[in-house]
Amino acid sequence: MNCANPLDAALLADYWLAALSNTEEESIEEHLLACDECSERLRGVIALAEGLRHVAREGSLQMVVSETFLACAAQNGLRVRQYAPPPGGSVQCTVTAEDDLLIGRLAADLSQAQRVDLSLCDQNGIEQLRLPDIPFLPDAGNVFWQQSITFAKAAPSSTLIVRLIAVDAAGGEHPLGEYTFNHVRTLPGPAAW
Ligand SMILES: [Zn+2]
Repeated sequence: MNCANPLDAALLADYWLAALSNTEEESIEEHLLACDECSERLRGVIALAEGLRHVAREGSLQMVVSETFLACAAQNGLRVRQYAPPPGGSVQCTVTAEDDLLIGRLAADLSQAQRVDLSLCDQNGIEQLRLPDIPFLPDAGNVFWQQSITFAKAAPSSTLIVRLIAVDAAGGEHPLGEYTFNHVRTLPGPAAW
């Protein structure tokens, strides 16, 4: 197998997601018919995309997601519930049985940050969990934090404080923002704990 002009993995992913124009699609199809190497790579891209889709559809992971991911999720019919407390402020939030994804939009100036950690604290500000070295775009001005929907649906009314922290090369920590989520349980039935 020796393809002189291998198709880019991102292009293959767009092809699989039907995000290309007809002309682009046709030229890729022609290439794939003639090229075993790129067809094999397309199978790899599909496996990866399906795996991610499955994990993402679960909505059960505590993770940082991109704005593109959220747009895709909404396009695919997922119900996205999003809250955007101002830095230093708080928001009243809840979750309903119909929601698929629960997102906290955290506004912060990330332009000077080398590394950013996301710290989850209890109502007294005591850290319970940290997502170290989260992915971020320096000029995005936002981090989209996905709370596990499974966790949220089981949770009692409670207060959660989320902090974004810049970590410098020497390990020094510099607060970027603090956001308080006052979660009110509105689902019927008792909480799981
Ligand atoms: Zn090829």
